[in-house]
Amino acid sequence: MRSLQSEVEQRGTRIFELVDKYPERPFSKAGFYQRLMALSMHDERFKTQLFQFVAVLPSLRGSSEIIQHLEEYFSDDNEGFSPLIGVGIRAARLVPWISAPVLRWNVSEMARQFIAGRNGNDVIATLRKRRAQKIGFTVDVLGEAVVSETEADEHAVFYGDLLEKLARETREWTDLLGKNVELFPVVNLSVKISALYSQISPAAPADAIAHVSTKLRPLFRRARELGAFINVDMESYALKNTTLELFKTILSEPEFKDWPHAGIVIQAYLRDSEADLRDLIEWGRARGTRFAVRLVKGAYWDYETTKSGQNGSNPPVFLQKPESDANFEKLTRVLFENNSVVTPAFGSHNIRSIAHAQAVADELGIDPGRFEFQLLYGMAGPIKRALVEMGYRVREYCPIGELLPGMAYLVRRLLENTSNEGFLRAKFAENVPAKELLRDPKELIKPGVTGIETPSSPSRPNQKNDASLNATAGHSFRNAPLVSFIYKDSQEKMQSALHEVRKRLGEKYPLYIGGEKILTDNLTPSFNPAEPTEIVGYGTEASIDEAERAVKAARAAFEKWRWTSVEERAQLLERAADILERRRYELSAVEIFEVGKSWSEADGDIREAIDFCTFYAQQMRRLGRPKLTQQVPGEESYHHYLPRGVAFVIAPWNFPIAILCGMAAAGVVTGNAVIMKPSEQSIVCGAMLMQVFAEAGVPPGVLNFLSGHGSVIGAHLVDHKDVDLIAFTGSREVGLKIWESAGITRPGQRELKRVICEMGGKNAMIVDADADLDETIMYSIYAAFGFQGQKCSALSRLILLEENYDRVMERLIPAAASLRVGNPTEPGIMVGPVIDEPAYRRILEYIEIGKKEAKIAYQAKEVPPHGYFVPPTIFTDVKPNMRIAREEIFGPVLSVLKVRDLDEALEVANGTDYALTGGFFSRSPDNIERVKARLEAGNVYINRSCTGAIVGRHPFGGFKMSGGGTKAGGEDYLLNFLVPRVVTENTSRHGFAPEKSPEYRDEFLWPKPQE
Ligand SMILES: Cc1cc2nc3c(=O)[nH]c(=O)nc-3n(C[C@H](O)[C@H](O)[C@H](O)COP(=O)(O)OP(=O)(O)OC[C@H]3O[C@@H](n4cnc5c(N)ncnc54)[C@H](O)[C@@H]3O)c2cc1C
Repeated sequence: MRSLQSEVEQRGTRIFELVDKYPERPFSKAGFYQRLMALSMHDERFKTQLFQFVAVLPSLRGSSEIIQHLEEYFSDDNEGFSPLIGVGIRAARLVPWISAPVLRWNVSEMARQFIAGRNGNDVIATLRKRRAQKIGFTVDVLGEAVVSETEADEHAVFYGDLLEKLARETREWTDLLGKNVELFPVVNLSVKISALYSQISPAAPADAIAHVSTKLRPLFRRARELGAFINVDMESYALKNTTLELFKTILSEPEFKDWPHAGIVIQAYLRDSEADLRDLIEWGRARGTRFAVRLVKGAYWDYETTKSGQNGSNPPVFLQKPESDANFEKLTRVLFENNSVVTPAFGSHNIRSIAHAQAVADELGIDPGRFEFQLLYGMAGPIKRALVEMGYRVREYCPIGELLPGMAYLVRRLLENTSNEGFLRAKFAENVPAKELLRDPKELIKPGVTGIETPSSPSRPNQKNDASLNATAGHSFRNAPLVSFIYKDSQEKMQSALHEVRKRLGEKYPLYIGGEKILTDNLTPSFNPAEPTEIVGYGTEASIDEAERAVKAARAAFEKWRWTSVEERAQLLERAADILERRRYELSAVEIFEVGKSWSEADGDIREAIDFCTFYAQQMRRLGRPKLTQQVPGEESYHHYLPRGVAFVIAPWNFPIAILCGMAAAGVVTGNAVIMKPSEQSIVCGAMLMQVFAEAGVPPGVLNFLSGHGSVIGAHLVDHKDVDLIAFTGSREVGLKIWESAGITRPGQRELKRVICEMGGKNAMIVDADADLDETIMYSIYAAFGFQGQKCSALSRLILLEENYDRVMERLIPAAASLRVGNPTEPGIMVGPVIDEPAYRRILEYIEIGKKEAKIAYQAKEVPPHGYFVPPTIFTDVKPNMRIAREEIFGPVLSVLKVRDLDEALEVANGTDYALTGGFFSRSPDNIERVKARLEAGNVYINRSCTGAIVGRHPFGGFKMSGGGTKAGGEDYLLNFLVPRVVTENTSRHGFAPEKSPEYRDEFLWPKPQE
């Protein structure tokens, strides 16, 4: 008996022979497209520019806009490119009215190569042609990932109509092989769940399933009546578990339990794909009815690795291409072995993968009529033909739709065709020999290599990422990954933390002074803003006496702490980070109850606290080593830093653990003694942080916790002669008072007070005429309404170029109307309550002001009756001088301003008192450069949300009335807590001097630390 490998080789060789017999190019259209693909494969930079240009092109309207973009993308260094581009640009400059339409036509044609038609009518002709070639079809609708329920409804209707149309037009068609017809209905529709519900949150699969099933059920029902087949496609990893769960849930319902004509996709590039497939098969057996699985490698490899790289988490995909190939083969066998319950389809253009499936089917005696090969429209035509000729069942995946929504699909195809790792490129562009292409992928897996070698590859856990550029030897900083609520395990942990924390609601929390817990009868309740009758806990109210005690304790502790080694101080922060990580779910749960954060927002806050600890520990190790100023003979001068003394930290409630932790950790690690005061609205969160530091072993008096009224103890401590530094984050009103008051020198005061003052914003995002509207809407909605607009970074002014105004508004309002408003203990809630009653009233007052000043374009109608829920609100016709366009509202209220052009947009954006965050959506490289230079904001974000700064990556803080120009989570933040000092020594003795002084020396510590 021959080995499987030789069987595969034999079949593979046969396919190659047939493919070579019809020497059609794999990407069927020649000319423009061929040349661009060839160039892209040759030059990575060009490929990036080209794909970005292609993505923007359909949204450009006039010829001049097209030419302008063409120049911006390609002109400055066209020398290195092919004459195609250079000539194109020159021609375009001369005759824009001819060349721009030609270019657009060419790109449209390129897209049309992968898109089978604009609509159901269009596609029928293509399907007929394929039928003549003995190729079946599955039709897919482009434009996944809707931003509103209106769009989701439209998609559902479209799917329904399409199904009817396909059934009608193909009524007379019979099975192409004329056997096993019961397994393979002629009409086959592929659907994507992200097109059917706009509010899918991986944390809330039950909600997604409830919504998507209301759309899928009628489709399934009708498909059943018409004898059609529905396949549920698989998208990015975030949706995978929900998609699988949804599939099993609906098909287990009595109505569909015995319906065999539904299928789902398994992506072999996922590490957990085998477990998922086995689980599906087990489910299918228990259900007792056959179902189908399309096995693919997966279309989102670049997206998944980029996303995981950004989050610092392990990618869910294999990182070596042969691993995906080998897994595909393993799962091929699993599918065939379970052929009694599952009908397999193999979605691949890789001749090795295809030949392997054929060989395994033969080995197991499975009739070729009982499974199918599926290939994409516009790709690998010769392979399809070869398979038909060999007597296999072939189905083509035919996307339909307009160019604009089809861009994401087109770019995925272009990436696939030019991928260094891809089969198509190897075979058709690089002519790699058949023997090489038919090798067993298992042999090609490199042992010991767990991933791609990028600088921040999670496969190399101790590598420095970008935040660690100045790390000292042996230390590195990595952002803690966010918890992924995709996993059931994380969802359950969060639910159980909420359950546990709920049990202890109403507990009393002490002050912490000089290492002593102090609980008095003077208690302040902290309420749950979603259920204001619920008391989350009681904080002990500090009086002036206790504030005085805290200053004394801090002063006394400072004298010792200041001489504690940097290493010891840094390690304290690292221990705190470990405890925060250990208590992560519990602390998130406390935030959800106390300040109304959603699950992921709460987790983001704890992650930030962890990052502050580890980042500042690393930064202090760097700053803590005295550094030689110049190398000169006979003298050495070392520049180093001393702590300032007693630091008073005043934090807000909106990032109740992260900001408090960041300021306190910075104070402590720099050798200061710290008194921290949480906001009155988030005392319990503050008390939790104190517990964390106490457990981490902070020495008595080095960190003191005072809850109480800002107007009493806050004001007292700001003015105190023994307080040397104030770190404040909060409102402009309080910030300016502190700034002023700290400027007065009191009798007995030793130091000039240093104030770190971070205040509010009136943040603007500008939307350019060529912006990607899917991204614009998604990020703007999130930035304006996430955490109820209560982030200082939140979007409050959306500035639209008039050219784009209607198009944006048309989608923005339904997107806002689709948001889930509710109690954030429930997963997947986007908009919760605002912090308390005064905030609630103030925001409603602003809405009243807005109604008088401008036009209310949208306001949510239904919000929960209890709790401080403010309906998300959008104003239009807003002018720059109106109060709602100038004053910080700190709630879910968005003002939309219409402007003529980018000049005016910048003027409006910069025309407020604030400069905190700001952003720009555009695909014009020149406009992007201009905004990068000219937008007045401490943090400028292009083509993404203006919220969500990450420690070390996006040092955060503004200027003008947004703050004193400091950057939390940045390299120079700790310097604010330190005074610089230089120690100079004459090292020459009678003309003799040491040749060289070391660049760094040990800390100046006395008594010398014990070895
Ligand atoms: C009919 C059809 C339907 C499809 N439906 C879906 C779907 O619903 N969902 C979906 O996600 N995909 C789907 N795909 C798959 C996807 O679109 C790609 O076409 C497919 O992954 C390409 O694989 P291949 O075997 O043809 O090519 P090959 O060149 O053999 O494989 C390329 C694939 O290998 C993987 N890969 C690339 N680099 C690496 C690496 N460094 N480490 C590990 N793996 C790597 C990627 O998945 C990449 O797409 C479908 C494909 C077809 C043909």
